[in-house]
Amino acid sequence: MNLAHLLDDQLRHRPEKVAFEGDGRSLSYAQLAHLSENFAASLTTAGYGPGDRIAVVLPNVPEYALAMFALWRRGAVPVLINPQLTGRELDYILRDSQARAVILPEALLGVLAPLRSELPNLRAIVLGVPADEDLNFAGLAATPGQCPVAERHGDDIAQMMYTSGTTGTPKGALISHGNLLANARSGIERLSVTGDDHLFCILPVFHAFAFTAALVIMPLVGGSVSFEYRLSPKKLMEHLSDPRVSVMVAVPSLLSTILRFPTELKLSAALRCILCGGGPLPPQLEAAFAQRFGDLVRQGYGMTECSPYAAFSPPDRPSKPGSIGLPMPQGHKLAVRDPISGDFAAPGTVGELVVSGPHVFKGYWNQPEATSEAFVEGWLRSGDLGYIDEEGYFFLVDRLKDMIIVGGEKVYSREVEDVLLAFAPLREVAVVGQPDPDKGEIVRAFVSLQEGAAIGEEEIIRFARERLAPVKVPRSITVLAELPKSATGKILKRELRKQFAPK
Ligand code: AMP
Repeated sequence: MNLAHLLDDQLRHRPEKVAFEGDGRSLSYAQLAHLSENFAASLTTAGYGPGDRIAVVLPNVPEYALAMFALWRRGAVPVLINPQLTGRELDYILRDSQARAVILPEALLGVLAPLRSELPNLRAIVLGVPADEDLNFAGLAATPGQCPVAERHGDDIAQMMYTSGTTGTPKGALISHGNLLANARSGIERLSVTGDDHLFCILPVFHAFAFTAALVIMPLVGGSVSFEYRLSPKKLMEHLSDPRVSVMVAVPSLLSTILRFPTELKLSAALRCILCGGGPLPPQLEAAFAQRFGDLVRQGYGMTECSPYAAFSPPDRPSKPGSIGLPMPQGHKLAVRDPISGDFAAPGTVGELVVSGPHVFKGYWNQPEATSEAFVEGWLRSGDLGYIDEEGYFFLVDRLKDMIIVGGEKVYSREVEDVLLAFAPLREVAVVGQPDPDKGEIVRAFVSLQEGAAIGEEEIIRFARERLAPVKVPRSITVLAELPKSATGKILKRELRKQFAPK
């Protein structure tokens, strides 16, 4: 069950094929297998073994795959960390996970320096630029060595990912080898992925959405991946028109960036689908993208805790606007449950989305209470509200926590956001509930404007009033230069609530 075995087939059938490329470097399947075994042997020599937690702090570069396959081979547990984290946030994850070492590029050594005295046992494994075939894992022997694949069972942990999601203190989600394998196999079926596919991956791999696609699905089918981590328009355009690119992963804000590109931009003729998820896709963005580039976007839905795909729209059927698709196949279950009565909801009725199946995680590291709160009657709670239509397609309505109750009436923040986003001068919108002594909560909107736009609160409210029932119209609008966002582009409403809490 060890994911390191994913390379066995590829080594037999396509050893010379480039598996991962990026940053001007590439790794064929044979190099990946060979170098990851050397690295695993060096880890053994340095005293790291099965179950040891080792942090991986890397941007999207081919060596990400190398580190993962080496750690899996050794049976160690990679702890995936955003390379942009610094100081307190990094310190928290390194301590909480009790990581014994950190794999990072030389350029990031500086972020560890202030933590060294606090975490004296933490060792840095510096991933240098390869001079020849050997990589420079400073402090570890980089000499060729042998290391058998450690025996791992389906329930053994393959990686830890810190997730808050967008709501609280980060917790280490424990994802097993069996979880990832099941979700990847299901993804391959739903998305019709083959060894001929080439994935362009600019979403950060330390996040579940890109991780499973790039590092599990692609090696499983023998496909290839090009990584990128800089959002420069020039680089992005080069990749998007690369004739090999057949699939890409995206979040909604990336689609808006692409739409702003000059009209000469031609997407790769081989591009068969753009997998979009991770946050609400505004209907007008979905429509504008389809109008310019054709029916390429397939929306999906998932979360770190289910490895991560729970639903995806199949690429071999026309897309259904607004829908997050059908539940993933192969025993992956997604249902709508009334959070109060616990009954499963009939089509068209809104409830909480709940998940069960072989892709559901093993719990949060050292947090039994948070783990038991994550489940209800054996189902993983998503904290998302949605409904199912008569054809079995799922739709998201809002986060449970973002639903606003105004004088007893439910207001879905997302509905208000979608309406406001149709107002041309607005670029970003986030709607939250603000405590109110009279109504319980009132609707408050934070917006940022398109470049050159100049409008005031009153015009925005007038626009909303013409399109929404009075209870849903924001009481106040705050215009900001930019809304706070997570590394994957999710607007951080908790930051807005905190920063702008009424005194
Ligand atoms: P994460 O664990 O960081 O992947 O976050 C999971 C959360 O992202 C879900 O619980 C949803 O709230 C949100 N999310 C994922 N996919 C979508 C989508 N297609 N539309 C809206 N929200 C989404």
